[in-house]
Amino acid sequence: MEIKCFICGTSEKEKVYLPCIHESVEKFVCVRCLPMLIHGVH
Ligand SMILES: [Zn+2]
Repeated sequence: MEIKCFICGTSEKEKVYLPCIHESVEKFVCVRCLPMLIHGVH
């Protein structure tokens, strides 16, 4: 399974990705986009 940020779409190995549940689907988000996820993405 490819790990990539579902917000910015990057899949760089040196980045840190965190698993999260978005719209009932498990996805990964990079730490850079995490604040956006917390504050809400629309
Ligand atoms: Zn990202």
